[in-house]
Amino acid sequence: MAEHPVALVDICRALVNQELVYYYQPIISLITGKICAAEALIRWKKEDESILLPGEFIPLAEEKGLINDITREMLPVLMKDIRTFIPQLEPDFYVSVNLSEKDITDDSLSTIFEREFSQNGISSSRVCAEITEKVFMPLNEKGAANIFKLSDQGIKIALDDFSAGHSTLENLTNLPISVLKLAMKITQLAPSTRNDFRLLRHLVSLAHQLNLDTIAEGVETKEEFNLLTSTGCTATQGFYFSHPLPLEDFQKLLTNQPSWSEYPFGLEYLAQIDHIDFRRDIIREALTIHTNPDPNARKRALKRLPDLDPDSCLMGKWFNNINWQWHEKADLEELNKLHQIFHDKSRLLMSAASKNQTRTEINKLIDELTEISLQLMDNLQNISIIGIQNHYEED
Ligand code: C2E
Ligand code: MG
Ligand code: MG
Repeated sequence: MAEHPVALVDICRALVNQELVYYYQPIISLITGKICAAEALIRWKKEDESILLPGEFIPLAEEKGLINDITREMLPVLMKDIRTFIPQLEPDFYVSVNLSEKDITDDSLSTIFEREFSQNGISSSRVCAEITEKVFMPLNEKGAANIFKLSDQGIKIALDDFSAGHSTLENLTNLPISVLKLAMKITQLAPSTRNDFRLLRHLVSLAHQLNLDTIAEGVETKEEFNLLTSTGCTATQGFYFSHPLPLEDFQKLLTNQPSWSEYPFGLEYLAQIDHIDFRRDIIREALTIHTNPDPNARKRALKRLPDLDPDSCLMGKWFNNINWQWHEKADLEELNKLHQIFHDKSRLLMSAASKNQTRTEINKLIDELTEISLQLMDNLQNISIIGIQNHYEED
């Protein structure tokens, strides 16, 4: 049996004496450079003012089944804390809380959340449940059902410590996960070698393609921050920005509204990849539909089709959330125009393929689509290079 630095009875006493508190670590948006969320991290503040980290008592509490009591006692504390800083928050600011495997298999968890939201007048969208990937190995039906319950309530679900190690990737599409938290070891290895950096970049890209936000944990240096920005990762947390802080200090930080604003040129890189994929996907599925007489294969091709609406395709979403402070208005207007035309041509191609027009007509539409796509890529790449130059501008 594992050795633990504290005794169970002491943790029980700490719980009764309200010695367990939350510290808050800010999460920084890599789009705006501002604090966009926070993670609540439990601390044991002893009578003598010394602080014990969760690693020193949470594993024993989990092993002995005390974790459910801790979570139940601490959720009201979390809500009370959130209430104190809610007036300072942007509408989409949220606070993450870590849940253990036994919390997830506890059927009363969603009822407790419900009660706390209504008693404190807090919207469920203000809270994100962080579940580490270990919990998913294996995740029983009850656990999965409870995760769906929390998500249906409006609570965001984050997959914590994702490192492509434990997680079965299918969890990313089978469960209602909206945030992927990349483990510290992935973030901190990224500057070391070409392949370590590529691993980070591809995990961010994977999350992006599945419509998940990514938060990279454990950023300690400017170099890691720069590399992360270049991947298109959406948010980050780490000692480079701030250590986890006691409630009062966290409130002071929020009041100061610090900004780590940087040109988000990684998102422009992702927009290029999205566009290349979109063009290939649309041409492939149009030809699948045109050449395949099997109605089921044609139906599947339609289901795989990227979003034809220019506002909701991946690139359109990027464009609609763009931070205009960074870009020349004329460049963006041109990009928007080309993007709209590109979508018009895509729709024409799909319609021609479904109506079984001749292959010559289909090929002509593909050529037109390619032509406009190349112009769009050219424009996007220019914006992106200016972005990198701006990001690395000399002080
Ligand atoms: P986690 O959820 O992955 O939390 C991130 C951990 O990384 C925190 O450690 C945080 O202080 C640390 N960290 C953040 N930025 C950096 C950085 O730049 N460098 C380094 N070296 N570390 C950084 P902490 O607070 O000791 O928490 C450890 C783990 O304990 C958490 O990992 C989480 O799994 C668990 N935990 C924390 N609070 C709770 C809780 O309320 N309930 C449960 N069940 N587990 C909790
Ligand atoms: Mg966490
Ligand atoms: Mg984590």
